[in-house]
Amino acid sequence: MIYLVEEGYIMKTFGGITLVREVPGVIQNVNECVLCNCQIISRFVYKLILPNNIIENACCAHCGIIRQYQLGDNVIQALCNDFLTDRTVSASLAWFVMNSSLRVGCCRPQILSFENKEHADKFVQAFGGKVFSFQETLESIHIKQVREKRC
Ligand SMILES: [Zn+2]
Ligand SMILES: [Zn+2]
Repeated sequence: MIYLVEEGYIMKTFGGITLVREVPGVIQNVNECVLCNCQIISRFVYKLILPNNIIENACCAHCGIIRQYQLGDNVIQALCNDFLTDRTVSASLAWFVMNSSLRVGCCRPQILSFENKEHADKFVQAFGGKVFSFQETLESIHIKQVREKRC
């Protein structure tokens, strides 16, 4: 029990103990972003499929793409969800909207993913920002990272 408290899995409260997060099983820290440790919301999750059945979850396309850049060729596939329909899309085929005025995501710059370029264009018409392909997003984030040196 003391071990668990020290590890942060449970927290001592007045009434006894409270489970603060699940004890890791096969999949580790599935609810936490691999990059910034913030809570993952399924709608914004960005999944990186790695060799040996390892899956890393990032909280949003921003963290996901940075992580993918770090891992390089080790990433077998990256998956994200369409912001409007919640459908899973292969990140390399998705369209990304950056710098829109509608703030919904967790990280800055906020990056929203879309399956359909037309939807991304319509979103930009309504809320501003710019539509990028996967490759353009990757490059743009990398340049920003180098310049700002932080997430
Ligand atoms: Zn994150
Ligand atoms: Zn995020």
